[in-house]
Amino acid sequence: MDLHGFIDEVHLGGPVGSEAISSFVDAVVNDGINDTELESVLRAIFECGLPNEDTVSLTSAMMQSGDMLTWPKEMRDKIVDKHSTGGVGDKVSIPLAPALAACGLYVPMISGRGLGHTGGTLDKLESIPGFNVEMGTEEIQNQVAEIGVAIIGQTPNLVPADRRMYAVRDVTDTVASIPLITSSIVSKKAAEQPAALVLDVKHGRAAFKPDREQSRELARSMVAVADGLGIDVTAVLTTMDHPLGCAIGNSVEIVESIECLRGAGPNDLEEVVCTLGGVLLASTKIAPDIESGAVMILDSLTDGSAFDVFLRMAIAQGANANLFESDHSLLLGLGLLDENLVMTEIITPSSGWISDIDAMALALVSLDLGAGRKNLGDTIDHAVGMILDAQVGEWLDEGEAWVTVQHRDTLNDDIMQRLGQALTLTQTVVKTSSRIDEIFGPEGINDK
Ligand code: URA
Repeated sequence: MDLHGFIDEVHLGGPVGSEAISSFVDAVVNDGINDTELESVLRAIFECGLPNEDTVSLTSAMMQSGDMLTWPKEMRDKIVDKHSTGGVGDKVSIPLAPALAACGLYVPMISGRGLGHTGGTLDKLESIPGFNVEMGTEEIQNQVAEIGVAIIGQTPNLVPADRRMYAVRDVTDTVASIPLITSSIVSKKAAEQPAALVLDVKHGRAAFKPDREQSRELARSMVAVADGLGIDVTAVLTTMDHPLGCAIGNSVEIVESIECLRGAGPNDLEEVVCTLGGVLLASTKIAPDIESGAVMILDSLTDGSAFDVFLRMAIAQGANANLFESDHSLLLGLGLLDENLVMTEIITPSSGWISDIDAMALALVSLDLGAGRKNLGDTIDHAVGMILDAQVGEWLDEGEAWVTVQHRDTLNDDIMQRLGQALTLTQTVVKTSSRIDEIFGPEGINDK
């Protein structure tokens, strides 16, 4: 590839053109450029951006850099997936994917692990003994055709260009670039060849992009690029100031996901699951609109069909059916009855309405307890975490517990102080608001 010509074009604002971009991605995958050269291209994009047409070309070339999932003709217009930019207590994928399958869609959900303050779907699923998230392309395709859903990790041959580019971005401080984030995320989803995609883009203090305008910009970019690749795409902006649901951790989030799959999950979690599911059912024309689709998802949660699909998926991926026979067997299997696990109720020193629960503060405490990874490759403790006993908008009496922490070692003063500061009470009634901020597609706001 013409490295200097490519970088000059990027500095001039492009378009660089699809041929030059294909040669660049080819060089990335086939060692045609070294890491220093790759860094210089990534830095040029990081500093100057890319026009949308080039971001589409880059995403397309990355998508084609390895294996892509393929589907029989009769399944193609029913293949769907969702991506979340990540949050605290965000276990949406675990109830959503089986619920979508119960409504007639096919969901090859390639998910990620947690890093830093946000949790990862794969880590949560791995708290189920035996649950295997590593599957080959053919196995994924077969399970999705048979059961309707697979939640798995990225296969080694899926979008290898992203693997190398991300590794270099990670160590050269070039991650936070809208075209690079867009191409990285959308190429991996596009390689599943979905007909429809929903993007849960969060903003708020515990979101990847806390600022609302920046998260909208990222959402607009991902929508434009996925649309450019022919995917029916919708962005749903959701808020991430407070934890989603009540459970934060791995095993505890599985328990809450199962509650949601049985129609008994917290309202805010159910709202996000039903809205994202409603979008995909409307996009694939199974439902006439998002609202009707959301009702179909809710029905699948309350009539047991979503849970049945979850069970089939869990067993197909290695879990033992006995685990789900009773609440006791589930808690035991998930390590939540471990005698070394200590439960500490954190009580409130005064009465009041809860006006704020700081998701970021709680996520960082969970991380310190061992629920997450500070560095790639760290091992995690699936059983530690916390459960909120109350959510924003509820009344607390002095001395009442508002969160129960599950931990191994003594909670030191620093952690106790951070937990105390995560809760804000007020003497006036607190109006709670929907987690859904905005829904838009390629044509702009309200086109959905
Ligand atoms: N997640 C990804 O997969 N890629 C990015 O660039 C950022 C977040």
